[in-house]
Amino acid sequence: MAIDPVCQMEVDEATAKWKSTYKGQTYYFCAPGCKTAFEADPEKYLKGGGAHSHGHGCGHH
Ligand SMILES: [Zn+2]
Repeated sequence: MAIDPVCQMEVDEATAKWKSTYKGQTYYFCAPGCKTAFEADPEKYLKGGGAHSHGHGCGHH
């Protein structure tokens, strides 16, 4: 599993519909909105400052 850098959700590389390559590294996203947000400002998310919660940010149960 990969981690969506925008919302910290787990994403399966095998089935991920949204991915982006940045500086030679491939990132996977749970939704097109996460991909768009990442591509708009990758450094923001790679520094870990983007998400306001850690763990599984996308889902509540
Ligand atoms: Zn996401």
